[in-house]
Amino acid sequence: MNVVSTERLIAPHGGALVDRTGERPDGLESLEAVTLTPREVSDLDMIAVGALSPLEGFMGREDYERVIEDMHLASGLPWSLPVCLAVDSAPAGDVAALVDEAGRALGTIEVEDTFSYDKEREAELCFRTTEDAHPGVARLYAQKPLYVSGRVTVFERPEPAFPELANDPADTRRIFAGRGWKRVVGFQTRNPIHRAHEYLTKVALETVDGLLVHPLVGETKSDDVPADVRVDCYQTLLDGYYPTERVLLSAFPAAMRYAGPREAVWHAICRKNYGCSHFIVGRDHAGVGDYYGTYDAQLIFDEFAPHELDVEPMFFEHTFWCNVCGSMASTKSCPHGPEDRVFLSGTKVREMLGEGEVPPVEFTRPQVAQVLIDAYRSN
Ligand SMILES: [Zn+2]
Repeated sequence: MNVVSTERLIAPHGGALVDRTGERPDGLESLEAVTLTPREVSDLDMIAVGALSPLEGFMGREDYERVIEDMHLASGLPWSLPVCLAVDSAPAGDVAALVDEAGRALGTIEVEDTFSYDKEREAELCFRTTEDAHPGVARLYAQKPLYVSGRVTVFERPEPAFPELANDPADTRRIFAGRGWKRVVGFQTRNPIHRAHEYLTKVALETVDGLLVHPLVGETKSDDVPADVRVDCYQTLLDGYYPTERVLLSAFPAAMRYAGPREAVWHAICRKNYGCSHFIVGRDHAGVGDYYGTYDAQLIFDEFAPHELDVEPMFFEHTFWCNVCGSMASTKSCPHGPEDRVFLSGTKVREMLGEGEVPPVEFTRPQVAQVLIDAYRSN
């Protein structure tokens, strides 16, 4: 096998890719079991494969405090969201088993500390609201009352929802290096890609070597378009409209937190671990409802010193087709008015698709519209 050097790629966050996968230990049955929620399972797996490098386990008190207060780990490295494991009580032994809700053992944690936390404080600092109508806050309020911290070892990985799209950070890095890429832009999405996002990914791609389309396929709100339909849309779009040798479609296994600005930073750091030197941040990235200002997810990057994150955010405006320009554009590049733009609200698009109507080609590629129409019909 050819070993490809990944040295030309951006270094992982903290310098080295963490690997906390390991062997199933003897005597597992005698350990106290801690049950993880689906979000915690996704965090655990991401820690194991280095997607959350430099984290080697669930955060301890010092990291937690510093992260929620000023978006840095105790070591001083930028980090924007808690990655914690909630429990009802401190596990009895030095090591506990980590199991999913079905009771399947996934790994172990070397118990370091168990500490209490203030849910409203975490909500206010991380989500900028204490309202439980916010899905991330609601999930936080429903959590168990203590956090247990410690290094983890994972011997059983969750079944990937899309095996053909399951690439760990070491895999994407190998693929990028194998294609000779150095500068790679990551694109996060949890929606079908219409012309607007197609345009900005291509504008970004014009300036770098490769594009990682990295849709989030972990847990999302129930009203987001189902992941299998979205994956169909992505594949259809990429097959028809992107140069395959410059794009990699791969699944991002994180669960959505809906933490808006802080999640945008967190998403950028994770993509750096996957080998991305650049990361696209649109308006209202990872937002929900109207909890965050339009540009908050872009402005938050200014709270870090230049180059502190290393991964370079690429900020984009909303983009649209302009009839006068005769091309895709944004308010940054087009002087014409709203009457010249092809704009459809999310509600309008859903309505059209639900009725089997194909939206204008300036808004979405007809092949993508067809995938969505078929999905609505089969429901
Ligand atoms: Zn124009």
